[in-house]
Amino acid sequence: MLALGEIKSDLENRRVVLGKRVAEMEAALRSEHSSNFSEQAHEREDEEVMERLEQEALQEIEAIDHALTRIENGTYGTCTVCGQDIGEKRLKVLPYAGLCISCAD
Ligand SMILES: [Zn+2]
Repeated sequence: MLALGEIKSDLENRRVVLGKRVAEMEAALRSEHSSNFSEQAHEREDEEVMERLEQEALQEIEAIDHALTRIENGTYGTCTVCGQDIGEKRLKVLPYAGLCISCAD
């Protein structure tokens, strides 16, 4: 039996952390650029890394939102493709997983 209450609060906490991280990255990406050319090159590299991390965080937030919806409507832990149990072991590692191992592969 899955501890849904626990999973839900873990997901919500994780979502808050990710939301803060995205906000920080947004603020950094919007900050003024240096007037120094070599500094600017560094900044551009940093920005590319940050944009990628931001995308990853946004995707994770989306996955968490979907998982929270599935907890609400009672379909959490069931594969959204084949309808099989995702399995407690997999959900422990990936609490927002929407697919069982065979469908995710
Ligand atoms: Zn499946």
